[in-house]
Amino acid sequence: SWAQAVDEQEAAAESVSLNLRNTKDKAAQSLLNKLIRNNLVNTTNQVEVLQKDPNSPLYSVKSFEELRLKPQLLKGVYGMGFNRPSKIQETALPMMLAEPPQNLIAQSQSGTGKTAAFVLAMLSHVDPNNKYPQCLCVSPTYELALQTGKVIEQMGKYYPEVKLVYAIRGNKLQRGMKLQEQIVIGTPGTMLDWCSKFRFIDPKKIKVFVLDEADVMIATQGHQDQSIRIQRMLPKNCQMLLFSATFEESVWNFAQRIVPDPNIIKLKREEETLDTIKQYYVLCNSKEEKFQALSNIYGAITIAQAMIFCHTRKTAGWLAGELSREGHQVALLSGEMQVEQRAAVIERFRDGKEKVLVTTNVCARGIDVEQVSVVINFDLPVDKDGNPDNETYLHRIGRTGRFGKRGLAINMVDSKMSMNILHRIQDHFNKKIEKLDTDDLDEIE
Ligand code: ADP
Repeated sequence: SWAQAVDEQEAAAESVSLNLRNTKDKAAQSLLNKLIRNNLVNTTNQVEVLQKDPNSPLYSVKSFEELRLKPQLLKGVYGMGFNRPSKIQETALPMMLAEPPQNLIAQSQSGTGKTAAFVLAMLSHVDPNNKYPQCLCVSPTYELALQTGKVIEQMGKYYPEVKLVYAIRGNKLQRGMKLQEQIVIGTPGTMLDWCSKFRFIDPKKIKVFVLDEADVMIATQGHQDQSIRIQRMLPKNCQMLLFSATFEESVWNFAQRIVPDPNIIKLKREEETLDTIKQYYVLCNSKEEKFQALSNIYGAITIAQAMIFCHTRKTAGWLAGELSREGHQVALLSGEMQVEQRAAVIERFRDGKEKVLVTTNVCARGIDVEQVSVVINFDLPVDKDGNPDNETYLHRIGRTGRFGKRGLAINMVDSKMSMNILHRIQDHFNKKIEKLDTDDLDEIE
């Protein structure tokens, strides 16, 4: 139909514009994850370690005491509510704090404690009596740099002699001045200018160089070269540390140019599975019928919290309106919202202030809302060519095996085309998706 064609166009446009903004999107996703996460990701996987010198003993620690931190820093760590090192910190911290300092490339998904680890390393290595920059930390965006800065401030709360400055566009300094702060955190372009063009920083005095979010970094034109140019100005004995959430070939090539003779630590992402999920589909003829079916489901079973995915912003907005009219407290996540606004919506939902979260497909990519027991695909996930998007389907309803509670997924089907998509998803995962009769809902509870 005409309306459907318009919908398709709108969805395609949203998806294309997001691809064009891929770089920005990656950074935004990463920021969003930081804004909504306030604890560690659970993981049962073991770290893989590749030592520069395979004959040297490998230390790992189970407590922060074993690291012999400065008392002010130990107090800062406990002040943040950390009891013990995270999986990646167990091995990364002893390496980073060793004497002589060791270089490190570390990869693990967001939320596993990388930032906290390198912040602790930077704070441990600076000498507050020396009033000049000793640590440089580069991040892909201004917002991400600020987030890391906040962690430095929290962890260094009882170590106020150590000062921090942001090398970001807009932070204009007087010509000829020399920085007195021990830690400089910023984006590659400004950091490079401060080291070379303006000489606010003497790169030869840097003891620790951190490159954070390497995968996001290389998505931005120019960041790679700027980072390498900064790195080349640093002394040979400067400790180089690089962190990334993912590790494709391009990231790896870049990492090796930034970090000579590295130790390497990797922590595999927890696999997602559909094993603990009951999957259903509902057959309808229109979006109104889909909404009716949804109402029936709500009338029949108790749903603590649900996430509902739509193909377009328009459908999401419409559905949120209909649900509100029926008395539901609805949160709406939409593409035009700023990252901070999105984070606020997700946080409210996570805190249980709203029971239903309606969102478009693209908007919710990569967001984990762990406690949601019911996921409804109001529209099935498809890629820009209209093929089933299996990866998104899995990420949306799948659970990480050992931690995931049982869940329920309901797929709304409203055409031959979407039935075909459903079959292909079913075949792909080789897991039956049962038909649900929404006029007779005894079976699902
Ligand atoms: P990453 O940089 O890998 O995304 P973060 O360092 O930001 O991970 O840590 C994720 C979350 O876990 C943050 O809220 C952080 O405060 C917290 N965190 C980090 N290390 C620990 C720890 N050892 N114990 C408890 N919480 C921690």
